[in-house]
Amino acid sequence: MISDRMYTLGSNRSVIRDLFEYGNERAKVVGRENIYDFSLGNPSVPAPKEVNDAIVDIVNSVPSTAVHGYTSAQGSEKTRRAIADDLNARFGTAYTPANLYISCGAAASLVSTLRALIAEPGAEIVCIAPFFPEYRCFIEANGGKCVVVPADEAQFQIDFDALESAVGKKTAAVIINSPNNPSGTVYSAETIEKLAALLEKKSEENGRAVYLISDEPYRELVYDGERVPFPPLYYKNTVVCYSYSKSLSLPGERIGYVLVPDEAEDAKRLYAAIAGAARICGYVCAPSLLQQVIERCAAVRPDLEEYIENRNLLYQALTEIGYKCVYPKGAFYMFVEAPGGDGNVFSAHAKKYDLLLVPGESFGCKKFLRISYCVSGEMIRRSIPAFRTAFETFEA
Ligand code: PLP
Repeated sequence: MISDRMYTLGSNRSVIRDLFEYGNERAKVVGRENIYDFSLGNPSVPAPKEVNDAIVDIVNSVPSTAVHGYTSAQGSEKTRRAIADDLNARFGTAYTPANLYISCGAAASLVSTLRALIAEPGAEIVCIAPFFPEYRCFIEANGGKCVVVPADEAQFQIDFDALESAVGKKTAAVIINSPNNPSGTVYSAETIEKLAALLEKKSEENGRAVYLISDEPYRELVYDGERVPFPPLYYKNTVVCYSYSKSLSLPGERIGYVLVPDEAEDAKRLYAAIAGAARICGYVCAPSLLQQVIERCAAVRPDLEEYIENRNLLYQALTEIGYKCVYPKGAFYMFVEAPGGDGNVFSAHAKKYDLLLVPGESFGCKKFLRISYCVSGEMIRRSIPAFRTAFETFEA
């Protein structure tokens, strides 16, 4: 017997992957230069020099068995200390290695945290639209129920009335993601303050913590001097799921962490449950070479220039054509209103011009389209006529 649930998950590609594969096939016919692929969130900025230098130096100077050997399940103490030091310097906290579990990217961080918090079948995890579509798989495969809060489509902050009614007796956690994939929005300090107050009230009503899971792979990808509030400073029951996939352009290396602050309710038990979940999912001992890289590069920040240029170029060109979009201040995505009001329909139409835009439905916003601008500026320039033609030829 084979698990139906796992079979379904493994044999149905995500819409994003589908578009990407379609683009690869189509490129064989019309040439790569004629495909305008805005589907994937693969960083286009190279990993910082410090990261490459660290890899070379570690491989050349550390004994091979120490580079490639197992570390503690939760990650090397030195790596966890380097991350704690960096967080403490930035946020005035007092974290220690005991607050950190090194994981294989944000996906592994999220799965381990969700598995630890879904204490019984049907426990509810609240996701605020627009949200990363994998959340739903992660929640449901672990026996939880995904409860969706409809988007505040005007600003992509949080519709607090909708959130208030979504959080109930069975809510184990609320997931947020800011800077946001797919909208590029950064939650303001005011939004995080209101969220903290609501969750405190709900925790009190429920007689136990409603945890906040802050999924932060884009924390450092933020523009125009915008500040990203650090949720643990506002709400004590916050677990941070972080990844270096985007900030250090290392998505294929699978490295990130879970932060469980001491202040969180049942922090020690929660950390142990996350370790247990990581254990049974095989996420123990995250890639050892990369742990050593992070030990040296925890304070390295990305070069944002290319993303800012791309964002400016695309936002200006698209709004001039007539597309509507909330101005994105972080991550490397724009979430554009689909002309005609249906992202699936407009995405199919845009494909005729070899313009690959991800329909917003799987993010919980059917009326929108996601554009990943982590691509070359040159491709963006070449794609503008296709955006114009798609817009002008579309009949709702
Ligand atoms: N969370 C969000 C919001 C993402 O956009 C992504 C990847 O695109 C992930 C989690 C998964 O990140 P990782 O590749 O580090 O597992």
